[in-house]
Amino acid sequence: MIHTRIKELLNSTDFGKTVIVKGWIKTFRNNQFLAINDGSCLGNIQVVIDYENTDERTLKRLTTGAAVSVEGVLIESLGKGQRVEVKASQISILGDSDPEKFPLQPKKHSLEFLREIAHLRFRTNTFNAVFKVRNALSFAVHRFFNERGFVYIHTPIITGSDAEGAGEMFKVTTLDLDNPPRNDDGSINFKEDFFGKSTNLTVSGQLEGELAALAFGNIYTFGPTFRAENSNTTRHLAEFWMIEPEMAFYELKDNMDLAEELLKHVIRYALDTCSEELDFLKNRLQEEEKSKPQTERSELDLLAKLNFCLDNDFERLTYTEAIDILRRSKPNQKKQFKYLIEEWGADLQSEHERYLVEKHFKKPVILTDYPADIKAFYMRMNEPDEQGRKTVRAMDILFPGIGEIVGGSQREERYDLLVNRMKEMHIPIEDMNWFLDTRRFGSVPHSGFGLGFERLVLFVTGMTNIRDVIPFPRTPNNAEF
Ligand code: ATP
Ligand code: MG
Ligand code: MG
Ligand code: MG
Repeated sequence: MIHTRIKELLNSTDFGKTVIVKGWIKTFRNNQFLAINDGSCLGNIQVVIDYENTDERTLKRLTTGAAVSVEGVLIESLGKGQRVEVKASQISILGDSDPEKFPLQPKKHSLEFLREIAHLRFRTNTFNAVFKVRNALSFAVHRFFNERGFVYIHTPIITGSDAEGAGEMFKVTTLDLDNPPRNDDGSINFKEDFFGKSTNLTVSGQLEGELAALAFGNIYTFGPTFRAENSNTTRHLAEFWMIEPEMAFYELKDNMDLAEELLKHVIRYALDTCSEELDFLKNRLQEEEKSKPQTERSELDLLAKLNFCLDNDFERLTYTEAIDILRRSKPNQKKQFKYLIEEWGADLQSEHERYLVEKHFKKPVILTDYPADIKAFYMRMNEPDEQGRKTVRAMDILFPGIGEIVGGSQREERYDLLVNRMKEMHIPIEDMNWFLDTRRFGSVPHSGFGLGFERLVLFVTGMTNIRDVIPFPRTPNNAEF
């Protein structure tokens, strides 16, 4: 007989039926009550054992973390806290767990501690909930695009292009680094690598995605991307997943509309399908909030925050309008930002982004038309304004508690302007002919964006450290398994 998953049992009313449960022991109370979880849901099934008929040796082995198989009868529970339980007739241990060594004892563990045992943290309710929400969001992304006729294009992970990621790319090398080939100046000659070509791990699938968009119309890519940024923030990973759609014939406004619709769609999907997980995470967050001073506690709980995001249009304004607001603002008692924006043209720091979203507008914000000098070469140039200032059709979406969640733009489709811009920015044009062909042959206005998947999962789960929303975080000093 195949075992029944606990999620199904907890909803069952087949009292009297013989069932088999397989899972891991969470607790064992009074030599009689086992709480077993099998990962199918956050709840445990209570198994009542007949300890007079269970031998001493088995009883000793019923410890937290051990894997068991239980055969018994499903009965209505008279105890508090559960509706059904299993009256065991036979218990076998599938895998022992040494109680002296198993780190996940039945008590609350800090997230820092759990990060050190990332290989075991899947077994906690918090991470069960987080990764179920992550899974739902990932499914919703694919559903959203496929329902709209977008083609999922798998862009390469190993790439020879380093146009975008100057300085932030991981090299892919098969060279013997103890004895590598050298250039005349002594630096390593990576050109000899990868069958005669220097290669990197991709920082973005965008440029390759554009090639496909100018054939299929609408495409998206959703895969791992890599950045060798040694930044120890709660928002950056060295390996993260990015959702990158590219759309032919889309201008900036269409791009913003699509991004807002996507975000709302996937958040709604999580709310509709992960109510058990989101309720759990909401309560967890509320517990955490209690330890903060009253003034720092958030006004909305997790579910209210997600629903608020669905029910309201994102605020849309230009970089220039945002700078005006920031210059007039008094963010705290000291009445200033740590980093003051003196001049038009400076990049916004996360304190500015968060001020706009959390204090000023109190909702998600889309900022557009950034100064050309602080954005990538491929963004569509606007006409200079009255003061001759150059901006590009960029859009960043900023979320409460997160800061930047999406970065995108309308792309520069005009060949001559693009090439001039690349020259200005010292981008090696001869290496980029494959990309420039899109502008040589049938170029059209087009747009796209990159949504950081972990930042989305952070927002939806209410977690606060990006290391806690990806199963195996890759950060400096963290690549063991
Ligand atoms: P940030 O300003 O936060 O460093 P960015 O502007 O460098 O982000 P983009 O190149 O615009 O990032 O990438 C698109 C999206 O990918 C970002 O909006 C963000 O959601 C996500 N992202 C970027 N870098 C990281 C990272 N190191 N870890 C996780 N997500 C990231
Ligand atoms: Mg960055
Ligand atoms: Mg940025
Ligand atoms: Mg960006």
